[in-house]
Amino acid sequence: MINIYDPELDFAPLGEQMYQLVETLYPICRSITGPGVRETMAHIQKLLPITINEVPSGTAVFDWEVPKEWAIRDAYIKNSAGVRVIDFKKSNLHVLNYSTPVNQRMTLEQLRPHLTTLPEQPDWIPYRTTYYQEKWGFCLSQNHLDALAATDNGGEYEMVIDSTLQNGSLTYGEYVIKGESTDEVLISCHTCHPSLCNDNLSGIALATYLARHIEQIKASGTKPRYTYRFLFIPGTIGSITWLALNEAKAKNIKHGLVVVCVGDAGKFSYKTSRQGDALIDRAAKHVLTSEKESFNLIDFFPYGYDERQYCSPGFNLAVGSLSRSTHGKFAQYHSSADDLSFVSGKHIAESLAVYMQVLDVLENDAVLVNQNPKCEPRLGKRGLYGNVGATVHRPTFEMALLWTLNLTDGQHSLLDIAKRAKLPFETIKQAARALQACDLLKKA
Ligand code: ZN
Repeated sequence: MINIYDPELDFAPLGEQMYQLVETLYPICRSITGPGVRETMAHIQKLLPITINEVPSGTAVFDWEVPKEWAIRDAYIKNSAGVRVIDFKKSNLHVLNYSTPVNQRMTLEQLRPHLTTLPEQPDWIPYRTTYYQEKWGFCLSQNHLDALAATDNGGEYEMVIDSTLQNGSLTYGEYVIKGESTDEVLISCHTCHPSLCNDNLSGIALATYLARHIEQIKASGTKPRYTYRFLFIPGTIGSITWLALNEAKAKNIKHGLVVVCVGDAGKFSYKTSRQGDALIDRAAKHVLTSEKESFNLIDFFPYGYDERQYCSPGFNLAVGSLSRSTHGKFAQYHSSADDLSFVSGKHIAESLAVYMQVLDVLENDAVLVNQNPKCEPRLGKRGLYGNVGATVHRPTFEMALLWTLNLTDGQHSLLDIAKRAKLPFETIKQAARALQACDLLKKA
C-alpha cells in the first residue's frame, strides 16, 4: 500500500523550495540546445541525480534531425554614441532565440525588419525563436522601440550577436524510479525556454520535486507499483529525439502527463490524451472534479506541447497534460511578463498536490470484491464506524464504506466507485483499506 498523496503533508515548504528553483533557473538563457540547457541540468542534478544525455547534431530522429547546437555569450545594439540601447545582459528575451551571429551597422529603418514587438502589450518583450530557419533578430517592448524612434537621428547602430551555431549536441535529463512493475508512468517537462517562469520553469520545478517525493517514499520502504520516468527535454525536438532513440522503452509507458504552466494563479486545466478515456484521463478528471470548484477540460488536439509527439498515431500513448493556464491562453504567454511575479510557490505547490493525487489514483486503483455481498455486513461489530482516519469526515467515511461495499461486485474499480459516489478517491481508498483490513474485501 502506497500513498503518493498524503492529505496531511505540509505543502508550504515544498512551494518555497520549488519557487527557489524557479528563481535559480530564471536568469539562464536556455534554448533547445546549448550551454544554458546544460547549466539548467546541472542545477536539477543538485536536487535529483538525473542522467544527462547528449545526442549529437545531425542524428536522424524520425523525419527530423538533431539541430546544430546554439551558444550565446552576448548581444546588443549600440547607438552612435556607443550606448547599449538593447542589451541581452538585461534580458535574454531581447535576442531572437537561435539567432545566427551578426556584427553589422545599420540605420533604425534598416534594422526594423529584424525587430519584433508586442504592440498590444507595449511594456512587454516578446519571446520568439528561429530554430529551423537561420536568421537573426532582436525583440523589445513597443515602448522601447517608440523611445528609440523618438530620439533617432538617422545615424547608424552597431548590432552584435555573439553567438555560435555549430555541430554539438542536444542535451536532456532523465530520471527513472523503478517500481514493482516494468509498466511506466511518464512525467515529461520542457526545458528550452529562457527567462520564462510559468512556461517551462514551473514544470521543471514540479517534476523535480515530484520525483524527489516518490524517491523518498521508496527510500522509506514502499516501492511504487509503477516505474516512473521523468524527462527534462527541449520541446518538440526533445520528445521526438527521445521517442526515436527509445522506441522499445516507449512501449512500457502506460500512463503519462506533460507538466506545463503549473505556477500561475489560473484555473486548473486538463487536456486529455489522444485516447480520451484512458485511466490517466479518468484519474485526472476525477481528481479535478472532486478537488476544484471548476476546471477546464480540453479534448486532445494535435498542437500544444510534447503530448503532440507522445500521442502521435505511431505511439498513441496515454499521455495527457495537466496545467493551470494553458498553451497560448494567458496574456503573459511567451513574453517578459511570464516572470517571477507571475508564478508563486503556493500555486506550484497546489499543482504538485493535484499531481500527487492523480498518481495516487494510478497506484491504488484496483478491482476488489465484496466477501459479504448478500445484504449489508454489520459494520459496527467490526469497529468500522469508529475507526476513521483523522483526515476524513465521519459521515462521509460511512457513506464511502457503503458505496464501496455496494459496488465491489468485480465490475467496478475503486476509481469507478469514487466517481459514482461523487467522493474523493482518497476517501474511497481509505474505506477500501478499512474493509480489506477486516476481510470484507479481497483482491479480484
Ligand atoms: Zn512555450
